[in-house]
This record gives sequence, structure tokens and C-alpha cells, in this order.
Amino acid sequence: MSYPELALHVAGQWLSQASGGERGVLNPADATTLGRLPLAGRAELDAAADSAAIGFRQWRRKTAHQRYGILRTAANLMRQRADLLALVLTLEQGKPTAEARREVLLSADILDFQAEEGKRLYGRTVAPRVEGILSQTVVRQPVGPVAAFTPWNFPVNLPVRKLASALAAGCSVIIKPDENTPASCMLLVQMLLEAGVPPQAVNMVCGEPSQVSAALIAHPAVAKVSITGSVAVGKLLGEQAARHMKRFSAELGGHAPVIVCDDADMAFVLKTSLAAKFRNAGQVCASPIRFYLPRARCADFATQFSQAASRLRLGPGLDPQTQMGPLTHAARVDDMQRLVDDALSNGARLLTGGRAVQGPGYFFEPTVLCHAPPHCLVMQQEPFGPLAVIQAVDSLDEAIDAANALPYGLGAYAFTRDLHTAHRLGEELQAGMVGINHYGVSQPEMPFGGWKESGLGQEMGAEGVLHYTDLKTITVGVPG
Ligand code: NAD
Repeated sequence: MSYPELALHVAGQWLSQASGGERGVLNPADATTLGRLPLAGRAELDAAADSAAIGFRQWRRKTAHQRYGILRTAANLMRQRADLLALVLTLEQGKPTAEARREVLLSADILDFQAEEGKRLYGRTVAPRVEGILSQTVVRQPVGPVAAFTPWNFPVNLPVRKLASALAAGCSVIIKPDENTPASCMLLVQMLLEAGVPPQAVNMVCGEPSQVSAALIAHPAVAKVSITGSVAVGKLLGEQAARHMKRFSAELGGHAPVIVCDDADMAFVLKTSLAAKFRNAGQVCASPIRFYLPRARCADFATQFSQAASRLRLGPGLDPQTQMGPLTHAARVDDMQRLVDDALSNGARLLTGGRAVQGPGYFFEPTVLCHAPPHCLVMQQEPFGPLAVIQAVDSLDEAIDAANALPYGLGAYAFTRDLHTAHRLGEELQAGMVGINHYGVSQPEMPFGGWKESGLGQEMGAEGVLHYTDLKTITVGVPG
């Protein structure tokens, strides 16, 4: 087993002990302890923020081309060590190793893309309106030290999105990965340092989350707050950031609808939807959740989808035969059960699954419900697990209204062979990412972000790096 000894990275030092105590990190496949994680107290949090201020001055002095070279080196280290990173990721998070490996390689591509975009932080020159002005330019500058918070569902990809864009822009970072999955981020930080990022420019802390975020957001050195997480925590951190007028971006939860039109190729919809729904045991922010089908085709689709779901092989992510791993921590299993029980007590029908799997680890059966009333919890709250709901509708208008009815707006999907309908859905679905006839909306080159309560700002794409910059107008007049 290759689970590393855990440490925090504060002020250029690796700390295997810290003043906030420690906690265990568990393997979700069998609930055994993988390692002990030191927890930052006030002293380490202040030291990390102070260090980020020093690291910022060092890092921003490098040219964009130097930063690019260092980040590309780190991306190549990730590729060289993809097997080790994937193994560690699976051990602490649970997903099948093949999925973990894909996550690592895609993350290396995100790092490459943002490194490239760091060279393209163009400004502009504006013609003066009065005489005696030599130049008027608008430039983008790095915003400063960033406090970044990430969850446990993609322990490599989500930290990389923030580290890549912040560092490419010239910012320093204090990253707080989730305490359930710290080792993946720790290995990433090691690779960034090995590639040449100044040790004080990348700090990694874990701790009691509410204390860590309150301390870092209030710290005068921190200029920007970036969170990926739940809507509730995103709002809380947004309020704290606003109190200090700190820049803020948030990638939050979703409740993705899927509109399957009458003309769709059902075999294709079934195959692609099954893979998208149960990937990472449904613990994906843009995971498809609510499937809307024409009434005449709904029962047939529901039967085939639930039968295929019930045949998925569950097991530890390290077993190559496994198609769906465990949920990442015990509370997820309780949440799933609560949503299923509530739906059933409100009249929904259970087509498959609906229970935790007995035995060690945090497994929950792939679950398909149908005809859940709109007021039940699963139709209002993000399940963030292996749960799909299939609903019958009588028209495309009804499907679009239902799809747009929730305060979430992250991913939305539709299947149709009609060009006009495809364009209409692309236009009318209220979401940051709309996938028509496929689910691949998360790509290094494309901006990823939520509408409505699902977030503020975007990550990846040409936009990702921009959120770590401030605009400045510089005008130079004739000297006398
Ligand atoms: P969470 O909101 O509980 O935690 C996210 C991060 O914030 C963690 O590191 C957590 O420790 C930290 N945090 C900081 N201050 C906190 C506080 N006061 N209280 C609690 N946590 C605090 O999210 P989660 O449950 O770990 O992750 C799942 C959520 O993340 C889902 O809603 C999912 O949709 C969302 N998510 C969104 C995206 C996206 O790109 N939009 C991607 C992945 C996950």
C-alpha cells in the first residue's frame, strides 16, 4: 500500500504535527484508517497566510513565461506519476482506479491549459481624450494571495483547477483540501514545489473547516477566496468574503436535469446516461439527476435504466472489476437513505436499490426512483450519490419548465435528433453548462461554472485565469 505520511505545507516547511491536533483519514472501501492528518491551529493558519504574502512577492516577479515553464513541468510530473496519484486518490476517495487515473491525466491537461492562458493576460491601449497624455493602458495584474477550499469528490481535479489558474495568473495560494482526502492534494503540492514554484507561494492546510475559513478569509494578507463545495458553505464563505471586500468565486452544487425528447435514440441515451449517472458513485456536481421523458416512453426507459443500474458491479476501487466504488464518507450513506425514505413516504416508486450495502465500507446501492412529487427532498436537494429520478412529462415546454424550476443552475442535458429542438434547449436551459446528446461538459478548454445558486464565476477555459486578476488603468502624461 502506498498511502503517504500526511503533512501540511506551511511557510515553506512540511509539518507532520500542528497545533490543531490530528484526525484519522479512512479508506471508504473498508473504513480502515489510512493515516493521521495533522490539523492546523491559529498559529499555522497565520503562518500560512503570512507566507503566502511573501510567496506572492516572489512568484509575481517571475515572467509569465517562467511561470508557464514551471507549471508545464508540474503537469508532466503529474503524468509521470499518474499511477501513484491514482492509487492514493482511490485509497482515500473510493472511485475505481481507472476513473482516478483519468482524473489525474485530465488535471494535468488543465494545468497545461491554464499555464498557457497565463501568457495571454492581455491588456489594451486606449486613445486619450485630452492632449498631453502619452499612453492609457488597461492591464491585468494578479489579485494576490488566494485562500482556496475544495471538497473530496475530485481530490486532484478540483485543487488543480484553483492552483493552476491562481499560479498562472501570478498569485500565491493557501489551499485547504477536504480533510477526508488530503493526500492527493499533498502530492500535487509536492510536484508544484519540485517543478520550481517558490516554497512560500504554495501552502496547504487542513483543520476544523469553519475555523480555517474564518481565519484565512479575515486575514489581511488574503486577497481572494475561492471555494468549490455545497451551496450552503459557498454562501457562508461569500458572506465572510464580502465583509472584508475580498474577491470571491464559488463552484457550488447542482441538480442536473436531463430532457429526453421523443425523437432521441433510446439505446444511446441509456448507455451514456448510465455511465454518467454512476461515475464516481454519483458524487459529481454536474451528475444527471432528474430525467424527464415523454409519458409514452417513460416506463420502458425506467425499466431498462433501473435493470442496467442493478447490474453494476460494486466493490473497492482498487479491484479492476469494480464499476462503482463506495461513497466517500459515512454521512453520505445516511444522506442517501434519508432522501430515499422521504421520497418513498411521499409516494415515489422505487425501481431498484434504495439501501446501504451491508458489510465494511460506505456502499450504497445504485438507486432509481420514478414519479417523485416535486416537493419531496430528492427533487429539491442535491443527492450527490448514486440516485436517479425518472419523471414523465406531457410536452417539451413542461420538461423545460421543470428543468429550470430549481434554484440550481450548474449542468443540464438533453437528447434529441432535431436540430431546431437542440438549439432551443441550448438557449432556454438555465445552467452554466448545457450538454446536448452527451455529458462531456467539463473540459480543460471550456469554462465551467454555475448559474443561480450554483456559483459565481468560472474555472478552466480562457476565463479561469481571469478570476485571479484585477484590472488596472495606467495613464502616463507628458512630464511637464
Ligand atoms: P462543503 O461545502 O461541505 O465543503 C467544501 C470545502 O469547504 C471543504 O474543504 C470544507 O472543509 C470547506 N469549508 C470551509 N469552510 C467551511 C465551513 N464553515 N463549513 C463547512 N465546510 C467548510 O462541500 P462537500 O460536501 O465537501 O462537497 C460536495 C459539494 O461540492 C456538492 O454540493 C457538490 O455539488 C459541490 N461541488 C461543486 C463543484 C463545481 O465545480 N460546481 C465540483 C465538485 C463539487
